[in-house]
Amino acid sequence: MKVGIIGTGYVGLPTGVGLAELGHEVVCIDAIKEKIADLKAGKITLFEDGLEDLFHKNAASGRLRFTSDMKEGVKDADIVILAVGTPSHPVTKEADMKYVHAAARELALHLTGYTVVANKSTVPVGTGDEVEKIIREVNPSADFDVVSLPEFLREGFAVHDFFNPDRIIVGANTEKASAAIKELYKPFGDKAHMLFVKRRSSETIKYASNAFLAMKIHYINEMANFCEKSGADVYEVAKGMGLDTRIGAKFLNPGPGYGGSCFPKDTNAMACMAKKYGVEMSLIETTIRRNDARKVEMAERILKAVDGKAKPKIAVLGLAFKGGTDDCRESPAMEIINALLKHDVTITAYDPKAMKTAEKLVGNRINYAADAYEAAKDADVLAVLTEWSDFKSLDLAKLKTLMKVPKIVDLRNLLNVNEAKRLGFDCQGIGR
Ligand code: NAD
Repeated sequence: MKVGIIGTGYVGLPTGVGLAELGHEVVCIDAIKEKIADLKAGKITLFEDGLEDLFHKNAASGRLRFTSDMKEGVKDADIVILAVGTPSHPVTKEADMKYVHAAARELALHLTGYTVVANKSTVPVGTGDEVEKIIREVNPSADFDVVSLPEFLREGFAVHDFFNPDRIIVGANTEKASAAIKELYKPFGDKAHMLFVKRRSSETIKYASNAFLAMKIHYINEMANFCEKSGADVYEVAKGMGLDTRIGAKFLNPGPGYGGSCFPKDTNAMACMAKKYGVEMSLIETTIRRNDARKVEMAERILKAVDGKAKPKIAVLGLAFKGGTDDCRESPAMEIINALLKHDVTITAYDPKAMKTAEKLVGNRINYAADAYEAAKDADVLAVLTEWSDFKSLDLAKLKTLMKVPKIVDLRNLLNVNEAKRLGFDCQGIGR
């Protein structure tokens, strides 16, 4: 099939590469000309495990192309996928729909023949209707259907998740549109686990899923707080809980709070939608409030570890919102750093992949180190903020010789706490 993808970010690019690998002819469209110039020149614009090789392979085959010209990407497409951002509105916290609406207006002009417009952006209920209305207004003679096709990939695992989806949710209002989406994923065979639902149900499934996962993280974080006071070990508690198949073992890892480009904005958007419909969603509202507060509480833990020290030097390991990505949007690490910077501290940070993206957000308000050991040099405390597996194998004895004071605040419980204590570190983790 011929597929146009509008938006070449963390969703659009892996989706485009994946669909090309399945054998489709894909054109990825982005409004940012520099991004397209890089992609055309064979330079990948974001880090995802396993993406680069597939990107080069499919670009070389001619099945994967890039353009900033909407007409070029849309005119012959059987399916046009919307994968533009839907950030939180800075004031209302609703999903800001300006990119989706603008893309709908632009693509409408170039539709030829029957086209399915499939929305992968995470959007409020009723957006399918709005997009349909916009396209109809701009191009009354267009032959199209609008489908909700929410994306569930996890950053850091985008390629894996594209090829191994738990489920593909399709909200289509016509048989013809459902058939086109079936055709798109036909190469998956039985692996596709497709669920066809009403368009409004599909839009809701995405928010309901993300809000539920955010609540699960918040729940285990509160349990971790409880374990710290009660003498239990949150890992033993989580393991015992997770063996119950009704609960499940995933998303029971305590940490500094959830972040990233999705959970914070999607929980806020869900709460706003509920208010609009006059429905109380107290669990989601409490989760949002307490998760925001948790980042400040985590910064306070780090400050407490250097209590009394003038101008303490803090070594930070990890800037990305989670391991395996260079994405720092709403990263707990960045929020903790911002809270720390309200005090008279010096921060030196290291992240295996996210230094450049972090620098765009905090600039020279912190120092950047070439590796974890350089970050730790002369530090009064070392704070682990992102769960990069590379940090697990750090040489703790070497770290100790480099640091001024052997103190660790490990907000991801990543380092070997017994080994650290044996070496004489004052080592604090989460929930035990
Ligand atoms: P992103 O910011 O990484 O990428 C969006 C891209 O769209 C940008 O490159 C931007 O330049 C481009 N764009 C915006 N308007 C355009 C237009 N009119 N024409 C052409 N290009 C345009 O965003 P993302 O992280 O890929 O997220 C996209 C959507 O997918 C969001 O709604 C998000 O909530 C959802 N989502 C994201 C993830 C994730 O892990 N990032 C997972 C599931 C769903």
